[in-house]
Amino acid sequence: MVARRPGWLPPGRTVVLFVAVAAVSVVALVWMGARLLTQERALEAQRLQERREAAADRVVAALEQVLLAEERRLANPGVPDLAVSDDLLVIVAGLTGIKVRPERAIPFYPVMPAARDAPSEPYSPAERLEFIERDHARAIAVLRSQTASPDPSVRAGARLRLARNLRKAGRPDEALEVFADLSADTGTVSGLPAGLVGRSARCLLLEELGRRDALRREAGELREALASGLWTLDRDAYLHYAGQVTRWLNQEPPADDGRQALAEGVCWLWENVRADTRKGDTENVTFSMGRRSLRFQGTPVTVLWRASGDEITALVAGPRYQQRRWFDPVVTASDFSSVRIGVSDRGSGPIFGTPPAAGLPTTLRSATATALPWDISVATADPDSALSGFAQRRRFMIFGLALVVLFVIAASYFAGRAVSRELAAATLQTDFVSAVSHEFRTPLTSMKQFTEMLVEDDDLPPEERRAYYRAQDRATRRLSRLVESLLDFGRMEAGARPYRLEPLDAGELVKTVVEEFRQEGGCNSFSIECAVPEGAVPIDGDREALAQALWNLLDNAVKYSGDSRTVGVEIDDSGKLVSIHVRDQGLGITPTERRQIFEKFARGSSAAASGVKGTGIGLAMVRHIVDAHGGKVTLESRSGTGSTFTIELPRGRMNRCRES
Ligand code: ADP
Repeated sequence: MVARRPGWLPPGRTVVLFVAVAAVSVVALVWMGARLLTQERALEAQRLQERREAAADRVVAALEQVLLAEERRLANPGVPDLAVSDDLLVIVAGLTGIKVRPERAIPFYPVMPAARDAPSEPYSPAERLEFIERDHARAIAVLRSQTASPDPSVRAGARLRLARNLRKAGRPDEALEVFADLSADTGTVSGLPAGLVGRSARCLLLEELGRRDALRREAGELREALASGLWTLDRDAYLHYAGQVTRWLNQEPPADDGRQALAEGVCWLWENVRADTRKGDTENVTFSMGRRSLRFQGTPVTVLWRASGDEITALVAGPRYQQRRWFDPVVTASDFSSVRIGVSDRGSGPIFGTPPAAGLPTTLRSATATALPWDISVATADPDSALSGFAQRRRFMIFGLALVVLFVIAASYFAGRAVSRELAAATLQTDFVSAVSHEFRTPLTSMKQFTEMLVEDDDLPPEERRAYYRAQDRATRRLSRLVESLLDFGRMEAGARPYRLEPLDAGELVKTVVEEFRQEGGCNSFSIECAVPEGAVPIDGDREALAQALWNLLDNAVKYSGDSRTVGVEIDDSGKLVSIHVRDQGLGITPTERRQIFEKFARGSSAAASGVKGTGIGLAMVRHIVDAHGGKVTLESRSGTGSTFTIELPRGRMNRCRES
């Protein structure tokens, strides 16, 4: 592993520290952002709810006003102000009967008017002839004379019996005519209007005779008459005749146009409110009021009443009236554009507007909480668009947050990189200083030792004295080489190292450097094999610089040889290039380190493993020098089996080399 390459491989702890700081800041920012968004959303939802609450209160108050206005009119139902509208009934119910305005507006009533049927005595002779003597001809004669009676009820009873006898006597066409006369009568028969009895009897006879076309026509007319409220019938009578008509017409019963529901409302009022009022203590109760929403076969009807003593005045309003006069004005009068209002009756469904939908935020005002007969619901009209402001703010916040997070990450990255660079540079500086100090200390120590020995012992034999002086000389040269190389490195870094190229013989240069190295390199135990071609190998180069480069390679080969003791130097003079190989069989260099070790101060794992001291500038100088000569330095190596460094230089011209 390359030791402390500045900048790009920051010390692990610094990176971890900066990553941790950045991660904590980012997490804190994201958490704060998420909380802000949640709060913002809750606030928006609260604002919408307040808007719904206010709208619900306004709707309830407005509907209350509407109903109060209607109830004020009930206090005096006779005044013309209480004009009767379509789909609205005004009821005045007393002990004896009920009055409904407008007249004939509904198909049936809770009670029928007291019938004024004729007594049965006038018909006794005719009935004896009909049922006992079975003499229909005489019975017909008796009854015909009775049909001229001035009393409409006597006349109607006689016509019914006459037609019956005619039918029994096998004279159906005459019977049909008499039934037709009965239809035009104003009296009653068996408590029922003569008109209704006559028409339905005609239909029955036509059915019996199998006259289908005539029956359909008659039944259609009867249906219209029933629906128009021509006769005052109670519910049972109405339903009986309406059912018969439906059967004759062979059709589905017609859909209620609202009038039947109104009639049901009147019946409900009669059966419930009137009964309750009569049960109560009328002495003490001056009057009471009530409101009730009812539904008959899906049609909503609202009943407002005011009971005073035995008399009840009431309004029965159908859905059209409620919508036109009550709900529409309320909803359009105020600005409810942002909400959807729904009116429904307890449990049975919507009456007006939009019923509350599942999942939509809705405010409810139930009938029990207000004085209204309905439940009111107010939902936010379009929650998505209502929250669009919030969504926009949220997008803006997320964007801002993402920017801040990016900024924090980028700032942490650059700060971490700068700090780790500084740390790496500081470490490298310390390592470099200690390595240089160590490099200095070795020759200085030996110089000191030999100097002391020379000073202390005057009787040293001349041979030994000369050996000491030679050792001092080697140490001095080593020191001076070290100083020179440091100065050279400084100049190279500053771009101030001048190269004076001259024609050289690479073989001669290599031999000289190897020889010097053998003598001065302190490598007595090493065998340095030098293979140089016979003839001159011309190159253009700076002798001193190339010698320095070669020296550095030899020095490394020796330093990182491990247990091996052989170093080889060869020159390969092939064509345009001159290659100088420095080969060792030492520790080798891992593939990942092969490029990095040429950087200044970079030191490889082999250096750390072998405990060899060094400054990390040797190969950087080699590359610088070779580059300056237009050549390149390459490396072949395998970890554990040795390395070959090759300096490739352009070949110089032979004649120039010879001249030199
Ligand atoms: P140093 O002062 O550390 O030798 P260099 O720049 O000369 O600095 O070398 C850089 C690194 O390259 C060394 O620390 C060593 O790890 C590796 N190296 C250089 N030459 C060799 C070699 N011949 N064999 C193994 N490793 C080498």
